[in-house]
Amino acid sequence: MLLRLPTSLSEAQECLTEGAIPVGGATLVWAAWQRDGFPEQAVSLREVPQANVLGAGEVGAAVLLHRIDERVPEVLRLAASGIGTGAVRRTATVGGNIVGSTLRCLLPAALVLNARAQVLAAEGPFETDLAELLAKKPLLLSLHWDEPLVSGYLKVSEAPGGPPPLVVATAVHSTEEGGRVLRVAVRDGYEFLSESVPCDTDAESVLDALSGTAIGALPAEAREVVREQVASVLERAAER
Ligand SMILES: Cc1cc2nc3c(=O)[nH]c(=O)nc-3n(C[C@H](O)[C@H](O)[C@H](O)COP(=O)(O)OP(=O)(O)OC[C@H]3O[C@@H](n4cnc5c(N)ncnc54)[C@H](O)[C@@H]3O)c2cc1C
Repeated sequence: MLLRLPTSLSEAQECLTEGAIPVGGATLVWAAWQRDGFPEQAVSLREVPQANVLGAGEVGAAVLLHRIDERVPEVLRLAASGIGTGAVRRTATVGGNIVGSTLRCLLPAALVLNARAQVLAAEGPFETDLAELLAKKPLLLSLHWDEPLVSGYLKVSEAPGGPPPLVVATAVHSTEEGGRVLRVAVRDGYEFLSESVPCDTDAESVLDALSGTAIGALPAEAREVVREQVASVLERAAER
């Protein structure tokens, strides 16, 4: 296998045109390649500047999970710090987690940030939303979002060998009209739910509005965790 390390978008584009398969830290693909055979070419974005951004409102696809720190909102930082072991976080990338894994602990955080994806196709770079990113799985370059006022993330402790643990991500954003909106995303098993409701009123009314969405149909235990997380993020938002 030829591992290609482009240093610019145009070189990365050339790799795609020539059929190279995206690779991040290879924490997932290595075992599959050993079992099923290696591709002729793979392309890593680790030398491409646009895929290594990390700062206000952006994170690159080649950023290693252990590098995600207080430059990004709490929801994303907590999500990254709870993935796998230290060894996994030192090797795995944002792109491999969001696009290539099934657990996708970063996805609820990206959903409540209402993140947009910058992707690269053989025709060139373009912006898309998370739904299209997950459906079509193009080469992810980076994620971008508007800073929330406050955010939060909880991954319930996992039972070994059981289903993926429940994840609840929350964020409160200012709207252009001067109001506020609460975004909540939940990973329940391998399913992801994402809802948003206005949150200019008291916490009980916000929770009522949320119970009228798909989140209201979650099992009672999960609904209780959502309730606690929403109450906590609304309390912190009220101080801002
Ligand atoms: C022990 C262990 C524990 C784990 N625990 C968790 C956990 O708790 N939560 C969780 O969410 N995950 C967990 N994972 C999964 C982990 O997050 C993934 O291994 C990791 O995110 C994959 O990242 P990678 O960079 O190594 O991807 P790779 O293995 O390199 O690639 C995985 C897939 O993603 C594709 N890909 C890679 N980069 C891009 C890109 N930029 N654009 C498009 N496609 C791309 C590849 O083509 C491939 O199909 C765990 C993994 C291990 C080994």
